[in-house]
Amino acid sequence: MNTPRIGVLALQGAVAEHARALRAAGAEVSTVRRPAELEGLDGLIVPGGESTTMARLAAPVRLMESIRERHAEGMAMFGTCAGMILMADQILDAEALTGFERIGGLDVVVRRNGYGSQLESFVGPLQVSGIPGEDATPLQAVFIRAPVIESLGPEVEVIASWQERPVAVRQGRILAASFHPELTPDHRLHRHFVELSAQRTVS
Ligand code: GLN
Repeated sequence: MNTPRIGVLALQGAVAEHARALRAAGAEVSTVRRPAELEGLDGLIVPGGESTTMARLAAPVRLMESIRERHAEGMAMFGTCAGMILMADQILDAEALTGFERIGGLDVVVRRNGYGSQLESFVGPLQVSGIPGEDATPLQAVFIRAPVIESLGPEVEVIASWQERPVAVRQGRILAASFHPELTPDHRLHRHFVELSAQRTVS
């Protein structure tokens, strides 16, 4: 496998943690704040943080539109928490995002903060299907003001559920999770994304 080049959207949120996890998973990592920095990337992580802030910061340079275009050209994407919200085709409580471009492309309906407030953050053990390695121990998933996936389209595969609701999904070259895989030392989901990015066929 060639070393994939993976960017982390660095407008706001858990950027350094994702970069560290990606390096540990074998990727060459860069940060992305402007469209030109998407050049040559095999994959992009859109981190957790605050989707409304990221959408506002991206608007002046039309970064959301550029990400969407690069994805259409073959760049893989991994959205975690706020990042998943920005990739969702539909948001139920989208008022705070009205008028701001989002990335889209993931055929899910999400509800922001559906798992409650910051004080209701929790860690849940998850069985994740399809991630690399023989290790069958559950992934400890950290949920912080996490979005609920209310429904999903036929192309969307559920790879992990929490209390019978999907919390990690895959659709073609998009991976998305309601939780924060970068906040724990278990890098299996990042390794999965590095492999997905390495399978890039269109350049
Ligand atoms: N609730 C936040 C939002 O709407 C996401 C929280 C997170 O990324 N931890 O963007």
